Amino acid sequence: MKILTIIGARPQFIKAAAVSREIAKHSEITEILVHTGQHYDTNMSDIFFEQMSIPKPQYHLDIAGLSHGAMTGRMLEKIEAVLLKERPDWVMVYGDTNSTLAGALAAAKLHIPVAHVEAGLRSFNMKMPEEINRILTDRISSLLLCPTSTAVQNLKLEGYDKIGSRVVICGDVMQDAVFFYSDKEQCPGDVMGIDLNEYFILATIHRAENTDDPARLSNIASALSEINHSIPVLLPLHPRTRAKLQEYGIELDATVIDPVGYLEMIYLLKRCRMVMSDSGGLQKEAYFFLKPCITLREETEWVELIHGGYNMLAGSDKTKIINSFHSMLNRSIVDQDNLYGGGDASSKIVVELLK
Ligand code: UDP
Repeated sequence: MKILTIIGARPQFIKAAAVSREIAKHSEITEILVHTGQHYDTNMSDIFFEQMSIPKPQYHLDIAGLSHGAMTGRMLEKIEAVLLKERPDWVMVYGDTNSTLAGALAAAKLHIPVAHVEAGLRSFNMKMPEEINRILTDRISSLLLCPTSTAVQNLKLEGYDKIGSRVVICGDVMQDAVFFYSDKEQCPGDVMGIDLNEYFILATIHRAENTDDPARLSNIASALSEINHSIPVLLPLHPRTRAKLQEYGIELDATVIDPVGYLEMIYLLKRCRMVMSDSGGLQKEAYFFLKPCITLREETEWVELIHGGYNMLAGSDKTKIINSFHSMLNRSIVDQDNLYGGGDASSKIVVELLK
């Protein structure tokens, strides 16, 4: 069996690392990796391949830094050429980026079955590019690999039990990654101004709805700057956010460092007091490491974290963020729900592919 996996963005490298390791245990499966190039900086791409021992992609499409339409269109064209050459039995895509949609669409048009890892997630906010990508990808996938029962339920409500695609719950591959890598943490080196053995807040901001809106970005920066006066805030900053802060002239009084690798992130997650982020992946990782989390968005796909009291939605309103910070600061997180499976999502995925 030949599986062609399409990845291109940071969270996809992390998810694919877990699944590719499982695929490699099966001699009857050949995996071809295609990197679209969507994330290309060393610390947004190469570092994950090195740290997580992801095999070197057989194809690198070098498509980055374009508008959504141009990027998706070029990916579609180049992925189609690869698919015509390789003729895989499955195309596997992850999550909700332009690389996900382009990969799924190119495959579906060639009648190659698509397996979608992280199927069924919904924010119900159609302004998010990710929501558009995930809805369209789900619709043209043959195998919908859902991380949670909420995701299965979302698909059911959209009528997926009647359209002939296979919907399976398999848990979250990010849980697999944490189980495998959590004892391989790496200290990010000297972080000026913060003692990583003392209390600090780990924050990230990268989502377009925050970075592309000067008012939202300014409110978040102002809230983090104020919090930084009571507990140091450490912000490994996405290049897009750095550029936007500069473009809008927004001040941020926190310890800003370049994006770090996954093993450094694990080090920081283990030691931080709390996570504040608009990242999907980080919301779950905060829960895996039993840290309270504040989500800097109006809604989340990972609703079970909110219902379980592990996470609080604060949006971009400064007062709301600061109030949420105070109410979550001393909350002790005990996992009573095992929300994302037992760390065996990757092996369940491979079983489904082999069926
Ligand atoms: N991450 C990382 N280095 C960083 C920031 C994030 O390794 O400097 C990891 C994080 O631990 C998580 C993943 O990247 O595993 C989340 O990716 P991102 O926030 O870019 O995307 P999202 O999850 O929102 O789709």
